[in-house]
Amino acid sequence: MSETKVICFANQKGGVGKTTSAVNIAACLARSGKNVLFIDSDPQGNATSGLGIHKKSIGVGTYDVVIGRAQISEAIIPTSQKGLYIVPAGIDLVGAEIELVDEPNREYRLKDAVKSVSGRYDYIIIDCPPSLGLLTINALTAARYVVIPVLCEYYSLEGLSQLTITISQIRRRYNPEIELLGVLINMFDGRLNLTIAVLEEIKKHFAGKIFRTPVPRSVKISEAPSHGMVITEYDRNGKGAAAYAAITSELMDRCTGNGG
Ligand code: ADP
Ligand code: MG
Repeated sequence: MSETKVICFANQKGGVGKTTSAVNIAACLARSGKNVLFIDSDPQGNATSGLGIHKKSIGVGTYDVVIGRAQISEAIIPTSQKGLYIVPAGIDLVGAEIELVDEPNREYRLKDAVKSVSGRYDYIIIDCPPSLGLLTINALTAARYVVIPVLCEYYSLEGLSQLTITISQIRRRYNPEIELLGVLINMFDGRLNLTIAVLEEIKKHFAGKIFRTPVPRSVKISEAPSHGMVITEYDRNGKGAAAYAAITSELMDRCTGNGG
């Protein structure tokens, strides 16, 4: 097995499609035969429930791992997707940001955990909360790559410069390897002038980094998690499934293109 690729999905804005994209791309990777670990690092636990795990059934989760109460191997459980495993998140994870503040190595908790299981997986996907707090810093410190999902809305651009600055700071202080793998355009609607204008603006800042295929706005994409399904099961012949499949294959190419 080649080196484990650790990819986090980050954007301090909520509702841009971090969780949706992380879950569906992780599922596509598993479908193409990869062994994948998903780490839910958002206290909302949307990825956990979207992958069919009932919050009440969570025993050991991301909280226990980052706080140092459990080994990551104790927290890993299978999902309904063959080849896709998860470290689930419950609401207790909210406490981690505060509890870690005075702890040693507080930025490296996830990195150390990931290191202890890397080699067992082809890909480790980390879903971040909508903030630039300690959980996101842990994810950016643990990851080799970051994917930034964005909406084609006017306000999308505002947060991107702050996020770029944060990534540079992480690179300087905690993780010299972190690299922007790609910007994922979500809820794309090519009929809207605003979409086109915003996309042009994003291209100016992230030339060459935008995934070729945008994810369309699709009701099916938003319905799938309520059935504990991923888009390739819920609407396998739809445009959402096709987009995530295309992005996943581009993502794999970009990772191997880097010799990783
Ligand atoms: P984040 O994790 O960045 O907060 P989510 O992935 O939870 O964002 O997405 C926010 C909401 O938008 C969710 O209700 C999700 O189902 C919906 N959504 C995400 N992407 C799409 C899409 N391409 N089409 C339709 N709805 C989407
Ligand atoms: Mg989310």
